[in-house]
Amino acid sequence: MMNRPIYLDYNATTPVDPRVLETMLPWFSEQFGNAASRTHLFGWEAAEAVENARRQVAQILGAQEKEIVFTSGATESNNLALLGSFEASPSKKHFITVQTEHKAILDVCQYLEKQGAEVTYLKPDAQGLITPQQVQETIREDTLLVSVMWANNETGVIQPIREIGQICRNAGVLFHTDATQAVGKLPIYVEADFIDLLSLSAHKLYGPKGAGALYVRRKTPLAIQMHGGGHERGRRSGTLNVPGIIGLGKACELSYQAFHTEIKRLADLRDYLERTILEFIPNVQVNGSVIHRLPHVSNLAFGAIDGEALLLNLTKIAVSNGSACTSASVHPSHVLKALGLSDELAHASVRFSLGRFTTAEEITLAIQYVTDTVATTRATFISLS
Ligand code: PMP
Repeated sequence: MMNRPIYLDYNATTPVDPRVLETMLPWFSEQFGNAASRTHLFGWEAAEAVENARRQVAQILGAQEKEIVFTSGATESNNLALLGSFEASPSKKHFITVQTEHKAILDVCQYLEKQGAEVTYLKPDAQGLITPQQVQETIREDTLLVSVMWANNETGVIQPIREIGQICRNAGVLFHTDATQAVGKLPIYVEADFIDLLSLSAHKLYGPKGAGALYVRRKTPLAIQMHGGGHERGRRSGTLNVPGIIGLGKACELSYQAFHTEIKRLADLRDYLERTILEFIPNVQVNGSVIHRLPHVSNLAFGAIDGEALLLNLTKIAVSNGSACTSASVHPSHVLKALGLSDELAHASVRFSLGRFTTAEEITLAIQYVTDTVATTRATFISLS
């Protein structure tokens, strides 16, 4: 097999941890029951395993088990949270979100606007941060819900979630957070953080693709978006993806257990990567706050270079410029634009996101490789311009 690039794109997706895979496998074959079958062992054991997974997901959030609704991933969870809230409370029509949200929020907001909602898109500062005061000042009588991503998928910037949550709770406004990139990487306590709705996805934390969950705080009004057999306490119908849910549960358990040691290891590796690149390559800047940031992410803007050529030349490492979900588009990243970057610098920005299987040797190789590639690409750029 051809030599594979060094994988530094863990924010796009993660490999399934072998321990997660092992836990999932029997549920595809011998234990294939439908968790809704109440009349025989196959159904009972599947239902029990799903409830065990619900406990594991609830634990990583500090939630109660009955507050977890299994979905197909964070996109669905975001849709259910926003559309379900809108439909459940027709007297309130105002939403607040942030310009740097994922498309799985921004596109839902655009749809809501077509349905008669009004949405305010808060502008972050040059570090990618919004302030609790901005939220406070934007809340109106008819504000229904505030949705703020916990940690940004492109820059890793972490928003002041607890402070925003407190403001929303005091104002009687629902608070949703897309925590897809934060779960397993940051401490989360939905009660203390004043969260009503929280989206997460298995494939960002070493679980399978196509599985996720929405945390719904008890008594939160939410209209059903998927009608059918009344699964998930009537909140999301459809035969449960038993292997996927079990994988999500196991992935949460593993991340929860390894949390502190893993955060430290990744922060050390990321800092080594970033520090060395900044030291040895001139004209590079970090995009977003370096203080309020996920420990495994570094988004770097390379000046005086053709961004497209840089990415094309970086064949030995798997990285991303902008969100992987929109990488088919040639538009500069809306996140980096909101931070004030020029189109040119946004195109010449590279997101490095490290993960559980990243080694120090890989980072050393990546540094060397990036240094060489930037130098040769810049030489071509200068000779052409
Ligand atoms: N929100 C964020 C912040 C994400 O990074 C992603 C995945 N790129 C999603 C939502 C969508 O998640 P999923 O792939 O599970 O639908």
